[in-house]
Amino acid sequence: MSPTAAPLRLSTTSADFEAQFAARLHWSADTDSAIEQRVADILADVQQRGDTAVLAYTERFDGLSVDSLKTLELTQSELKAAFDGLPTAQRNALESAARRVRSYHEAQKKASGESWSYRDEDGTLLGQKVTPLDRVGIYVPGGKAAYPSSVLMNAIPAHVAGVAEIIMVVPTPRGEKNPLVLAAAYVAGVTRAFTIGGAQAVAALAYGTATVPKVDKITGPGNAYVASAKKRVFGTVGIDMIAGPSEILVLADGSTPAEWVAMDLFSQAEHDELAQSILLCPDAAYIEAVQAAIDRLLPTMPRAAIIARSLNDRGALIQTRNMEEACAISNRIAPEHLEVSSAEPHRWEPLLKHAGAIFLGAYTSESLGDYCAGPNHVLPTSGTARFSSPLGVYDFQKRSSLIEVSAAGAQTLGTIAAELAYGEGLQAHARAAEMRLNDVPPMRVAK
Ligand code: NAD
Repeated sequence: MSPTAAPLRLSTTSADFEAQFAARLHWSADTDSAIEQRVADILADVQQRGDTAVLAYTERFDGLSVDSLKTLELTQSELKAAFDGLPTAQRNALESAARRVRSYHEAQKKASGESWSYRDEDGTLLGQKVTPLDRVGIYVPGGKAAYPSSVLMNAIPAHVAGVAEIIMVVPTPRGEKNPLVLAAAYVAGVTRAFTIGGAQAVAALAYGTATVPKVDKITGPGNAYVASAKKRVFGTVGIDMIAGPSEILVLADGSTPAEWVAMDLFSQAEHDELAQSILLCPDAAYIEAVQAAIDRLLPTMPRAAIIARSLNDRGALIQTRNMEEACAISNRIAPEHLEVSSAEPHRWEPLLKHAGAIFLGAYTSESLGDYCAGPNHVLPTSGTARFSSPLGVYDFQKRSSLIEVSAAGAQTLGTIAAELAYGEGLQAHARAAEMRLNDVPPMRVAK
């Protein structure tokens, strides 16, 4: 029997709305302690035994046994051969997607990723110098499925930022390589690639081994082992974020065909059982139409079982009083993906503050953003869009402040700094500032 899906029905006018809403949204980022312990052991082992440990875990978890980690490095010619061997339609799609993702991130760099400076009235120069990271590691998941789009979304912004070396890791269970992933690495400009995965790959990138170079930052999604490893190596290296299950929130005014919206809800639900798909809409009849579309379309989906489980356990169809209230609830959820499926998307967009990506209008399905619209698909999940942003060029850059004080500036700044330094009891600070004054005052004793 094919599975059925009935997302929880809620109405903002019902007395128990708040309690039910909170229960449905609840998700904890805590990993279970057995995974935490195993990951801690793997990290310590790789730190100590390097290549040997990585090889042992690759054999154990990926069923891939080789004598040397060097054998697991993919050569540039192997990446190019994978690209050349793709069917023309796939090659064209990959290149078009890469071109669009590159253009978007180039615009992002121009708008907010360049150095700047100004001189104040004393002629003192103040500014910010933006530099790329030297070497980054990108984790591309590969345990249960292959994700060529993740290669593009991680490697292209790094490349646009000017990162000199992009090291990719991707597990290949039993040595089965996915040609699209390899081809994407070629198109995106990956410098070196290794077919290793899990906590051992994260450790190799964070600490460095004889074969895998140590990187400055690790980005990219992965399962619980990968997420836990990234959390643990943070500080030794930078990381982008810890991603939770995928989410979509559709804010609908009833003007989009109900089947389109049902399929958009499915498109997140099919990721995994923990994914969350929510509809917010003021129109009760439209909510009924979406449920009817779910009933009609679900049996046609190859991943119907996963979709049904996700919609039944975590999905919701919420009736609001009006669109303004729907926007306010959306801000409380701060979803990863937010579709404004409305005839007037620009009327509602100014009311929306917290979301990883906002898809405006009936034609903008979230899945276009996953692959090829241009913006990054690595987005904050689990409400973290309240305080964080999509992966971008800025994640592969850092900033240094620039200060060049003029002789005139030293007079004004020196007096201020010395006063504050004496107040903090830091004599050398005060004196370093005073020595540059035209009239050097006698030294005071800092208390
Ligand atoms: P993965 O590459 O993250 O994990 C595979 C690795 O996990 C293996 O190589 C192995 O080393 C390790 N592992 C598996 N079982 C283990 C065990 N018992 N002990 C120790 N290590 C073990 O691939 P995956 O498992 O397919 O997971 C990919 C995840 O990434 C999914 O949850 C998927 O939803 C997510 N994802 C997210 C995005 C995004 O943009 N947010 C994109 C793509 C994938």
